[in-house]
Amino acid sequence: MTKTVQNWAGNVRFKPQKYILPEHPEEIANLILRAAEEGKKIRTVGSGHSFSPLIQTQDWLLSLDRMQGLVSVSEASAMATVKAGTKLYALGELLFQKGLAMENLGDIDRQSLAGALTTGTHGSGTGFGILATQVEELTLTDGCGERHVCSRTQDPLLFRAALVSMGLLGIITELKLRLEPAYRLHYIHRKANLEQTLENLEDYKSNNRNFEFYWFPHSKAVQLKLVNRTEAPPRNNGAMRWINDVLVENAAFGALSRYARLFPGQAMSVSRLCGNLISNGERVDWSHRIFATARLVPFVEMEYNIPAEAFIEALREMEAAIHKHKFAVHFPVECRWAKADDLLLSPANGRDSAYIAVHMYKGMPYKAYFETLEAIFKAHGGRPHWGKMNTCTASDFQRMYPDWNHFMAIRERMDPRRIFVNLPFNQWLD
Ligand SMILES: Cc1cc2nc3c(=O)[nH]c(=O)nc-3n(C[C@H](O)[C@H](O)[C@H](O)COP(=O)(O)OP(=O)(O)OC[C@H]3O[C@@H](n4cnc5c(N)ncnc54)[C@H](O)[C@@H]3O)c2cc1C
Repeated sequence: MTKTVQNWAGNVRFKPQKYILPEHPEEIANLILRAAEEGKKIRTVGSGHSFSPLIQTQDWLLSLDRMQGLVSVSEASAMATVKAGTKLYALGELLFQKGLAMENLGDIDRQSLAGALTTGTHGSGTGFGILATQVEELTLTDGCGERHVCSRTQDPLLFRAALVSMGLLGIITELKLRLEPAYRLHYIHRKANLEQTLENLEDYKSNNRNFEFYWFPHSKAVQLKLVNRTEAPPRNNGAMRWINDVLVENAAFGALSRYARLFPGQAMSVSRLCGNLISNGERVDWSHRIFATARLVPFVEMEYNIPAEAFIEALREMEAAIHKHKFAVHFPVECRWAKADDLLLSPANGRDSAYIAVHMYKGMPYKAYFETLEAIFKAHGGRPHWGKMNTCTASDFQRMYPDWNHFMAIRERMDPRRIFVNLPFNQWLD
């Protein structure tokens, strides 16, 4: 037995029989064949930043930490082929050195490229799909040890299935990304009121390259994040900014969170206090340094994708439910947007989408809060983020995804011996 492995939030803990760090795709193919012979399962871990138990296994856990870096770059066509285990923070700098950048990112950069893409990770902006839509070509090794290269023109159905597949179709070893010449962003954060934000929502969404907001429950306080391209030079990015914005803000929020956990009856007041303390600020930097935020206060999270047009009604219902049940919560609700796509299991499949994420400080009760809001999201056609907590079953997914059975048929073809099927997936298949 190896050491105990746990995810970022600490809510998933397990002891795999083996922890393996392959260095080449051929080694992966051999491991898969050996697993088949020995009747073992394989799961792959990226950075372990999923809240759902996607990486959990009793058998073999594979990490691609030794398969990182650029394979090739074409500056002229703004494309790069990247090893699947590459961490997003490292990728941002590697691409920057080549004068390139990803068109959009989520709000942290600690994940591995394959882990982020294959769970449907997204940023915000009505002009952008989830991160997986930036992929042009993908290479993976299936459950029989066979290598597949797929794209929009080569095995397109496998491509549309594999981009959001949580390791169920095979182990991804390389990804070719469509990029942009490196660009700078002007990031403004400011305090606002929920009612005015909702009144002006369409303007905010259409007049900013990337727009999102955080709403503090039990209050009307909102923090807006408005991000746009600029030719201005980087500013307000030094060590002092990091100390003020990152360290001090996280330390203050961490201290308030510990207080709320100790005195849950005060969580509503803490949320209102946090809302009052929202500061205004701005910054200009290269894109990959703007998107990434440091998350130093631990939490658990549930996030749902709902049709964009259902957003305001769903948020109103959440507000009423939080008020009615007086949930002890002080973490803000994060609201983001993404463009429709055609990836089989993408939560944004077939519809322009809003994403609503709810969080709870580590160690505070979250079940009643999450379950009440999950019912609201589901009633609005919600689909959970694959990497975040939810209580969905196979029949829920069948209802949510028009291509669910299609995906499962591809899974059967790619991994007939179910080498990649583990908790929670075995519950989805039977
Ligand atoms: C603090 C924090 C902030 C976050 N912010 C955002 C955000 O802004 N937007 C958002 O959408 N999500 C966000 N997430 C969720 C996160 O992006 C996803 O859960 C993502 O999958 C984590 O990447 P990872 O590398 O840690 O993958 P892991 O959690 O390690 O693995 C995720 C899945 O990918 C599979 N996998 C990993 N590598 C491979 C491979 N090479 N081949 C095949 N399958 C593979 C694993 O088997 C597993 O099923 C956040 C999570 C945290 C903890």
